[in-house]
Amino acid sequence: MASRTTVLAGGIGAARFLEGLVRVVAADTVTVIGNTGDDLELHGLTVCPDLDTVTYTLAGLADPARGWGQANESFHTLDALRRFSKETWFQLGDRDLATHLFRTSLLRRGFPLSEVTRRVSRSLGVESTILPMSDHPVRTWLETDSGRLDFQTYFVKNGAKPVVRAVEFVGADQAAPASGVLEAIAQADAVIVAPSNPIISVGPIFAVPGIREALRKTAAPVLAVSPIVGGRAVKGPAAEMMTSLGYDASALAVASLYKDFLNVFVLDEADRESSAAVEELGMRAVVCPTLMTGMPQKEALAHTVMEALVS
Ligand code: GDP
Repeated sequence: MASRTTVLAGGIGAARFLEGLVRVVAADTVTVIGNTGDDLELHGLTVCPDLDTVTYTLAGLADPARGWGQANESFHTLDALRRFSKETWFQLGDRDLATHLFRTSLLRRGFPLSEVTRRVSRSLGVESTILPMSDHPVRTWLETDSGRLDFQTYFVKNGAKPVVRAVEFVGADQAAPASGVLEAIAQADAVIVAPSNPIISVGPIFAVPGIREALRKTAAPVLAVSPIVGGRAVKGPAAEMMTSLGYDASALAVASLYKDFLNVFVLDEADRESSAAVEELGMRAVVCPTLMTGMPQKEALAHTVMEALVS
């Protein structure tokens, strides 16, 4: 049987990594466990930005420049909505809206998010399995110097500028892993934590009771790719957020956050000098280029990762 790879994923960083991975291993052997802490209700619709970023990317539909939404998108509905509502700061393209309409109608009929996500991804031609971390709603809220903000108000409306003092995953303590999540970790031949924001993309996944423990217990090797390169996030607020929450903004700090379950940590050449300190945490350090600037770099990173997992 082909070996099975399970990937814990946020949005853009994870999607980039997955694009390379499915060129190195068979796409149908990959299971993605996605963050739903960023989900929101908008105009009566349930929107799942991270799941959709991963889905559109694996379906070959993603907009390569923006990193979110679909390519060749139009925004006529949003333009028309502006005549009725001021709540139009969250960009929703016309094609993207079809996903949210379909998803919301199935959720209202009582289907769990995992089943809805399966139907969305299959309909769009995705061969990998995409699972939400939980079928229960979990929502990321941030205590900031501009007050308590839900994730998208912080991230999109306020451009991720407010200083984050604390993070809360509302609903997580009552949530359970979605059907298939614990099995995907326990039965995998390899588990990868994608280069995603450790606080707000991977953090919500670990807030769901049982998931982190499953990572500690799995017989499969667990590897993470650093989202922090040379003390900075490649994209987004990960570095600032780590600093304001009292961590170092460094690859080593990310390895340290994951040290209870990690066997291998992949860090960028820019952070080579941290590799000994990473190994002192009790894991193997692999140094390679991790900037996924194009498909060759994405594929090369996926190759290195898969090699590190078998060696
Ligand atoms: P979001 O929910 O869309 O913000 O997605 P993620 O959390 O998956 O992605 C954001 C994280 O991915 C940031 O911390 C980035 O530093 C990281 N990231 C994005 N592109 C790259 C890349 O090319 N290489 C590495 N190593 N990290 C990346």
